[in-house]
Amino acid sequence: MASTSTVKPNKMNWLKMDWQQELQKNITSVSELEKFLPLSADERKNLEEVATRHPMNIPRYYLDLIDPNDPHDPIRKLAVPSTEELILAGAMGETTCDPYGDDKHDKGNGILHKYPYTALVVATEYCSMYCRHCFRKRMVGLPNDQTVKSFQQAASYIAEHTEIKNVVMSGGDPLMLPTDALAKMLDSLRNIEHLNYVRIGSRAPVVFPLRLADNELIDLLADFNRDKPLYVPTHFNHPNEITPEAKEAVARLRSAGVTVNNQAVLLRGVNDSVEALTELMDGLLQIGVNPYYLYQCMPVERVRHHFQVPLKEGVDLVDDARRKMDGYAKRFKFIIGHDIGKLEICGRADDKMILKQLHARPGHQEESSRILVRQLTDNGGWLDDLPEVAI
Ligand code: SF4
Repeated sequence: MASTSTVKPNKMNWLKMDWQQELQKNITSVSELEKFLPLSADERKNLEEVATRHPMNIPRYYLDLIDPNDPHDPIRKLAVPSTEELILAGAMGETTCDPYGDDKHDKGNGILHKYPYTALVVATEYCSMYCRHCFRKRMVGLPNDQTVKSFQQAASYIAEHTEIKNVVMSGGDPLMLPTDALAKMLDSLRNIEHLNYVRIGSRAPVVFPLRLADNELIDLLADFNRDKPLYVPTHFNHPNEITPEAKEAVARLRSAGVTVNNQAVLLRGVNDSVEALTELMDGLLQIGVNPYYLYQCMPVERVRHHFQVPLKEGVDLVDDARRKMDGYAKRFKFIIGHDIGKLEICGRADDKMILKQLHARPGHQEESSRILVRQLTDNGGWLDDLPEVAI
């Protein structure tokens, strides 16, 4: 299905512009949006309210991937505010604004240190697009004091904690920082001997590939990569995002020696079909991206109700899709990123779901690598919804 045609043609040359000027042309208001997509009077009124809760920010490139005549277009669901975001919780159950328990592991200066071997640094709160399903909705796109004021102080914490083996620069999207600011941050990590590698989490290859057309940025990444291996976890969710521009952005990252891994999220109305998942994983391999994680959508306020797929349905969907994938495509892990740690959903046996805990929260190391069994229910969408089964 995806072997020859996943990379879809696009009509404008989006890689020949000045990235900072182009960013200024992002669609940030409902009145601008209306010039591109038909909205009903009700929608217009409600979307204005939604956008005050979680700002809208859509690059013109990404907007161009939407079919304006299809209200169910998957790219539209990822980018355009929906009136369903007015529902704090809903059919899928309770919600929270911090499902991963980030705040408990906040060490100041933007450092989240949950697992001993990994430190996550919030390098910026800005993203080139504000994804409607973002699990960091509480901080992304809003002015807040979580942003690193001094990355040097964050780097000092990392240097003092020799148990830290890798750093994730996150946010927000660190690749949207000016190149010289990113260079200073990377420089402060370059000589920390106990760091094996650095990750820069970025959705720019997917939503704003123009950023990777900047030679200065690619030179910086290549230079750092000579000292420490650099990985970019990125976030493709649907095969329609795999365009010639995205392919070129990934090729440029790879030309700098960067390994690109994908972390998708299973989302209702976006990729909750065998065809979408199969085309996505196959398409990623076509452009040199490794399928790495498929996350279960978290119980986040204004997200869960309309985006989360019940686990009973999701586990079957993933298994059905995997049957159509080759060995490299099916390497991804289906993951619950929970407060207690990261859990892989291994599959189901009759009406029970089998999980393996991959990482454990501080003080509970004995939980790492354990097997868990939960009773599947019709509508349970999160670990806590499913009754425990003794093993
Ligand atoms: S790019 Fe990532 S951090 Fe930014 S809005 Fe999207 S999901 Fe959230």
